[in-house]
Amino acid sequence: MRIAVCPGSFDPVTNGHLDVFYRASKMFDELIVAVFHNPGKKPMFTMEERVELLRESTKNISNLRVDSFSGLLNEYVRKQNTFIIVRGLRALTDFEYEFQRALLIKKVDPAMETVFMMTNSEYSFLSSSGIKELATFGGCIKGLVPECVEVEINKRMQVNK
Ligand code: ADP
Repeated sequence: MRIAVCPGSFDPVTNGHLDVFYRASKMFDELIVAVFHNPGKKPMFTMEERVELLRESTKNISNLRVDSFSGLLNEYVRKQNTFIIVRGLRALTDFEYEFQRALLIKKVDPAMETVFMMTNSEYSFLSSSGIKELATFGGCIKGLVPECVEVEINKRMQVNK
């Protein structure tokens, strides 16, 4: 059985992430979307909220499971009985960061393999931070994020008004 782990902060999940999940779920028997705490980023949604939004927006992908973890990625991946990590890749800006991360994890644990899925050109401009910025300034996020995320963000924006 081919299992792959797709780790990320998903704060929040966007249609760009979902596109990667759909495509990756066809390549593996099981895809585990794993939310982790990225110490470099201050989150808008708690870990539990991110997991909940991911579960809601991926419920139609039968071989996808949402989970969360903290600690070392390679240890988590090993516990899932696999060595395959899937990451999405947007423009050149992602490349440098993802390249470093993939090499670092390979250095720590040579059995790990990172597989990159090229973004769908329709979503190449989409990022969680872009969504948060857009929403903060009252921009419309319809069509860029799953409906449950749109509802949740709009609720928060109302409260903050
Ligand atoms: P991080 O894990 O670095 O905090 P994110 O949670 O934002 O990053 O994203 C998780 C993964 O999804 C990363 O590999 C990122 O490059 C990828 N990704 C984010 N947005 C898109 C998109 N629009 N198209 C394809 N891949 C994306």
